Parts: sequence; C-alpha cells; structure tokens
Amino acid sequence: MSNHYDLIAIGGGSGGLSVAQRAAAHGARAAVVEKAALGGTCVNVGCVPKKIMWYGATVAGALRDAADYGFSVEQHGFDWAKLVRQRDGYIHGIHAWYHTYLADNKVDEIQGTARFIDEHTLEVDGERYTADHIAISPGGQPLVPDTPGAELGITSDGFFALTEQPQEVAVIGSGYIAVELAGLLNALGSRVTLVLRKHQLLKEFEPMLRETLMEEMQESGVNIITNTSVTAIEKQDDGKLRLNCQGGLSCSGLDSVIWAIGRVPSTQELNLSAAGVQMDSRGFVPTDEWQNTNVAGIYAIGDVTGRAALTPVAIAAGRRLADRLFGGMPEARLEYENIPTVVFSHPPIGSIGVSEDEAREQHGDAVKIYQTRFTPMYHAFTHHKHITAMKLVCVGAEEKVIGCHIIGLGADEMLQGFAVAISMGATKADFDRTIAIHPTSAEELVTMR
Ligand code: FAD
Ligand code: NDP
Repeated sequence: MSNHYDLIAIGGGSGGLSVAQRAAAHGARAAVVEKAALGGTCVNVGCVPKKIMWYGATVAGALRDAADYGFSVEQHGFDWAKLVRQRDGYIHGIHAWYHTYLADNKVDEIQGTARFIDEHTLEVDGERYTADHIAISPGGQPLVPDTPGAELGITSDGFFALTEQPQEVAVIGSGYIAVELAGLLNALGSRVTLVLRKHQLLKEFEPMLRETLMEEMQESGVNIITNTSVTAIEKQDDGKLRLNCQGGLSCSGLDSVIWAIGRVPSTQELNLSAAGVQMDSRGFVPTDEWQNTNVAGIYAIGDVTGRAALTPVAIAAGRRLADRLFGGMPEARLEYENIPTVVFSHPPIGSIGVSEDEAREQHGDAVKIYQTRFTPMYHAFTHHKHITAMKLVCVGAEEKVIGCHIIGLGADEMLQGFAVAISMGATKADFDRTIAIHPTSAEELVTMR
C-alpha cells in the first residue's frame, strides 16, 4: 500500500479524527497519526473522564439532599477506586469503538510520533509518509511552572490517574480546570483549598458568573485563598505536602497539589521548522480564518491554534476544513463568534456571547440588561442550597440578545437551545414570545422583565 495520502492529520484527538473522517467521507485517502490513545485529550484526560467525575459529584449532592426529600439513606462511604475503574472501563470501550470507526470510515491509523521532514513529508517512528494536505492537530498539555518543588504536584492528567481519593488537596489556578476539579473534589468529600494569584475566578467570564461562583464555592466549603503566588512545594517528614505562598502563607498536610494554570501547545516534537511553519512566541500555530498556516497545504486545527480550546470547536474546524478541501464547499469555514461554553463547576455555568462590560464598551448606552437571581425549586427546602443567576445582554432598539449567562442547577443543559436562538440573531421580543416551560429554571430566561 502506498504511503501517499490526500490528507494526513497529526493527532488522533477531536480535531484530527474529525478532519480525517470527513475527508474520507468525501472520497479522499486519509490517515491519522496518533502517538498515544485515540480520542486525544477530550476522551482520555479531559471532557469525558471529567464529566464522569462530575456526575459522581452530582450523585453525592443528591445523597446529601435525600433526607430533605424524605428518604432515609444510610451511606457506607464512597469508593473512589471503583468510580475510577468504571470510568476507565467506559473510556476503554470508546477506544475500541474508535478503531472500528476509523476502519469503517476508511481512515488509516498510523501509530507513532509524527515529525515533519518537509512541507509534504512526515516521518513516523522511522517510516515516511507523504500527503498533499497535512492538518496539524496535536493539542496541548498542562503547564507546570518552574517553582521549586513543582514536580511534587500533579496536573489534570495526574488527577485522572489517582486511584485513591486525596483527602486534603490544594488546587492552584483560576480557570476552567481549577474550578471544575476543586468543585467536584469538594462535592466528593475532599477538603479543598483553591489558590488564586489574583482576586477572581474565570477572568474571561461575565463578572456576575464568576462572583456568584466564588460565593457558591465558599458556601459549599471550598477554602479560597486569593492574591497570592505559590513560592514552593515541599515534602513534609510524614510524606504529606506543604504549599508555601507569598506573604508567609502556607497549607500543610496535603495529599495532592494540582496545578491548573493553563495549557501549552504540543508542538515541540513536530519539527515544524523543516516545513517552514511559523509558531507564535508560546508555540501555538497561528492560522487565518480558513485554518491555513503560513505554508500552503498545511493547516492547524484545535487547541494548537490557541483559539477557543474546546472539543466542539476542534471538531467543527476539522469538518469545515475537509468540506472545503474535498467536499466542493469552497466557502466552508468555522466562524469563531458566538461559541457557547459550559463550565462544569458546582453549580454549573453556561455562557455565550459578550459580557455586560464588553457590550457597554462596544455599544455604550444602547445596551440593556435583564437579570434575575433566585433559589431554584429543587433547593426550596433542602438544607444545602445553590443559587441560580441569569443575565441577558441586549443591544439596540430591537434588543438583539448578544450575551446570555447562566449559573445554577441545569445551566449546563439549558444553554444549547438558547445558543441556537442567539446564533440566529434572536431578540428579547423573540424570547418573550416563546411560551415558558413550567416549572423550570429555564423559563426565567423567557419571562425576564
Ligand atoms: P487533542 O484532543 O489534545 O488531541 C491531540 C492528539 O495529538 C493527542 O492524542 C496527542 O497524543 C496527539 N499528538 C500530539 N503530538 C503528536 C505527534 N507529534 N504525533 C502524533 N500524535 C501526536 N472541552 C470541552 O469542549 N468540554 C469540556 O468539558 C472539556 N473539558 C476538559 C477537561 C480537561 C481536564 C481538559 C484538559 C480539557 C478539556 N476540554 C474540554 C478541552 C478539550 O479536551 C480540547 O479542546 C480538545 O481535546 C482539543 O482537541 P485537539 O484535537 O485540538 O487536541
Ligand atoms: P485556563 O486558561 O482556563 O485558566 C488558567 C488560569 O490560571 C489563567 O487564566 C490564570 O488566571 C491562572 N494562572 C496562570 N498562571 C498561573 C500561575 N502561575 N499561578 C496561579 N494561577 C495562574 O486554563 P485551564 O488549564 O483551566 O484550561 C485550559 C483550557 O481547556 C481552557 O481554557 C478551556 O478552553 C479548556 N477546558 C474546557 C473545559 C470545558 O469546556 N468545560 C474544561 C476544562 C478545560 P489569572 O490570570 O486570573 O490568575
């Protein structure tokens, strides 16, 4: 069999699998090179295992609230190792499915680490492959700083490898991963300290969301330390860890310290200079709006581009690229506006469009805000309560909805439908015209005054 392809994708994650599968569906000869497990970050150390742990945490919440609903439930502990075994078994099933999926879709699977030889040639563990088109989709990896003792900590990858529940944990960082891991560990019964170098969580989000989340996490028992930097991690005599922070602050007796301070692109092994592909100062591969790099025939998709590091974004970019190259759709490209996103925090966040501050910067007094804050009915008589808060950002005389921000029970499942409406250009009047579904929290979004 020839080693020449119409398209080779580097990386069998969300982006690489999608571009290769769609290219093959259009009749192209396509291959995916993967050095580790198929499915990439999302399936192996990202969305999927995270969501399963989040569901576990949701079950813990339901057990806690059960007595308020009249159930007499005797708990006999929580078996972390069992949840991890079940989770990993599920992921193993996805791997098996992927191998069949690639074969069924006539995509060749090449196991190994790809590096460029020139614009059209890759070497994978000593074997050479050529392609008319090469899609770079190697994703990223967690960042670990050069703080003394940093290696004593783990990252999200290490978190998913834990076979025992850490009882005492410090999570460092303020983004998606920090709040998700801190929230689910806390809900599963670990004692959690979240260390922020600034005063806030989720800096890129609407302030109402991040302020409400901060209150909710503190209310739920997460110890949040703000405005400090970690200066060292040390091992104590008893084998536990101690975190030293600026200003003499320290946390001791820790079973785990988790770095969640961002991710860096996995471009080191690619030998991009052999093909003349440019990277930015952080190693990301910039592209134009068509996913083209600076070299004709070489594209970049997914996390490696440094834009909206989300699985559906990588998938959509890959599919549109294959449609453009092989599907007779010269205008196909991903539009990066109005990307909905969910943070699987406790409670979850759903957000699309601009924040109130961004809207006011862009549109001044033409902005109108609708907002509400309430206790959802589920928590009407539970001892432990989570608040729900919502904000609609509207602009102009027609009150076009340009931002929708929700935190609270069910926000994760609520957003998708509203994202459809907003991406179609819905106005507040369209929301108001829609009959509410009662009794739900979502109905507040179509009844706000
Ligand atoms: P990846 O999925 O990372 O795939 C890249 C693949 O390339 C990897 O398998 C890697 O082994 C391989 N590779 C790298 N270099 C080479 C090479 N030289 N040769 C061969 N193979 C190579 N997104 C969401 O939308 N929702 C979520 O809930 C969510 N949760 C997340 C939770 C965590 C903890 C993390 C870390 C991420 C999460 N994400 C989530 C983000 C999501 O996982 C990524 O945006 C997505 O996986 C990016 O896809 P990709 O194809 O760009 O890269
Ligand atoms: P993020 O970019 O979300 O957040 C990292 C934050 O950590 C920074 O914004 C910064 O905030 C803070 N930080 C940076 N350096 C340090 C430091 N040295 N010490 C302390 N804090 C620091 O990165 P994540 O790693 O959380 O996630 C990576 C990406 O993966 C996300 O951006 C998202 O795209 C994706 N993801 C998506 C999920 C989802 O869809 N639900 C879930 C998980 C990940 P500050 O400047 O305020 O200190």
